[in-house]
Amino acid sequence: MPLLEISDVVVRYGAVTAVQGFSGSVGDGDIVVVLGPNGAGKTSLLRSVAGLVPKAGGRVMFDGTDITRWRTHRISRAGIALVPEGRRIFSPLSVQDNLLIGAYARTSTQDKAKLLSDIYDRFPVLAERRNRQAGLLSGGEQQMLAFGRALMSSPKLMMMDEPSMGLAPVAVDIVMTTVQSIAASGIAVLMVEQNAAMAQELATKAIVMERGEITEVDTTGRIKSGVGSLSGFVDLD
Ligand code: ATP
Repeated sequence: MPLLEISDVVVRYGAVTAVQGFSGSVGDGDIVVVLGPNGAGKTSLLRSVAGLVPKAGGRVMFDGTDITRWRTHRISRAGIALVPEGRRIFSPLSVQDNLLIGAYARTSTQDKAKLLSDIYDRFPVLAERRNRQAGLLSGGEQQMLAFGRALMSSPKLMMMDEPSMGLAPVAVDIVMTTVQSIAASGIAVLMVEQNAAMAQELATKAIVMERGEITEVDTTGRIKSGVGSLSGFVDLD
């Protein structure tokens, strides 16, 4: 059984259907990339899995349990972390305080200290800047902070919403390496991306979404040419 199984999920905002029956699964070790243009429903999909927006239909199974109707905090405690679009770090707070927010569900100071030291080992740049105001970090560093904050909840699955968005090419490369290292450490990844080159490089499975619907699934890790209307915005070979 896959770690995450999404079946026929529907998301609606009033009369607007953002996700129209999405199905897909993420197994241990997978990096599943959801591609698609602006407004395709990718963010809504991740937010619905995280319990941040209600599902108007469908089912989500995680680790053998039906979590479809669970609230966000319970989903988070079960092992699903979301790295949101635009990173959403708390600019006035220090790097360390941002990380500690990610461990809110833990009460033991010892647990928190151990998690922090693991994050600092993984991201030495965050260790160096632990007392700096998060808003003063570069875009790439803020993305590392967003990853670090999500890792503080010791997830089994990390969902990432366009982690490369707005970053310089050198920072995009660092993000890609980080995603690979997160997956290699045993955390499954479900990522939304508009950068097809990045998807090609990373994905064990790619799902293309348009206007709330799946238009293509590729399990070979290569997005093929001929994705039709997507060719205008993604870099296809
Ligand atoms: P983007 O890359 O721009 O984030 P996306 O593929 O993630 O796009 P969504 O943000 O999920 O797409 O949006 C899907 C559709 O739902 C769009 O038509 C959008 O306008 C609509 N939508 C999203 N959030 C809301 C909301 N809170 N209220 C009403 N409509 C919304």
